[in-house]
Amino acid sequence: MSVALVTGASRGIGAACAVALAQAGFDVAVGYVADEAGANATVEAVRAVGCQAAVVQGDIADSAAAEAVVNAAEDALGPLDALVLNAGITRDGLMMRMSDDDWQSVIDTNLSGSFYCARAALRGMMKRRAGSIVAVSSVVGLMGNAGQVNYAAAKAGLIGMTKSLAKEAGARGVRANAIAPGYISTDMTDVLSDDIKEQLIGHTPLGRLGTPDDVAGLVAFLCSDASAFITGTVIPVDGGLGM
Ligand code: NAD
Repeated sequence: MSVALVTGASRGIGAACAVALAQAGFDVAVGYVADEAGANATVEAVRAVGCQAAVVQGDIADSAAAEAVVNAAEDALGPLDALVLNAGITRDGLMMRMSDDDWQSVIDTNLSGSFYCARAALRGMMKRRAGSIVAVSSVVGLMGNAGQVNYAAAKAGLIGMTKSLAKEAGARGVRANAIAPGYISTDMTDVLSDDIKEQLIGHTPLGRLGTPDDVAGLVAFLCSDASAFITGTVIPVDGGLGM
């Protein structure tokens, strides 16, 4: 049985990825920071598919805690074959008024946190000469977005990190890819007004917001051997919004 860790899997896209990975035959470690009930619900959903699951709590913005999350996942389920760097936050605001804290917390969680987790998982993957790392970037990391300089910088940074990692680790059999979701219906985007949602749908050729399952299928594919010759890429999953 293959093993995957999904960071931020207590709800939303991460929870859907955990279930899709289980359906693809992975035992899944469910990362979360605060929502224990949500993480336990994801664990139950993975077990319902017939795979093993474990919760791994920790604030990935903290380097030591992120490393502990990876170690706890491997202690519970075995060496990682796949790592999904999904945990992320938003602290939106126009640049002129953005506080240092709003800038830093988004960089710390979305970019540094993903770096800490990937670095911790990489040692074992390189030794075993196998592994797939998937970074959940965003269409905003490719296009920018007014009111999200912190988030766009972190998500663009993830793309640079992923491509560099793909070049560093490819010869050791480790793949790294990024995905760029468009607007997906989750708690994170529930805060957007109906007007903004309608505008986004208007700019999306497929004429709707995405669902977590739309993203999870791509993540499961990138974690599986079906994508064995794909590395260093950024795949949009956005209904055509970003083209
Ligand atoms: P969400 O807010 O529903 O879930 C975020 C998850 O990250 C939660 O499980 C939360 O516990 C976890 N998390 C947050 N901070 C953490 C920390 N410091 N340590 C560990 N875990 C932490 O969001 P979502 O919409 O499901 O988004 C998931 C990912 O997809 C994020 O990286 C987000 O930026 C990205 N994304 C979302 C959309 C969208 O439209 N929803 C679009 C593009 C990219």
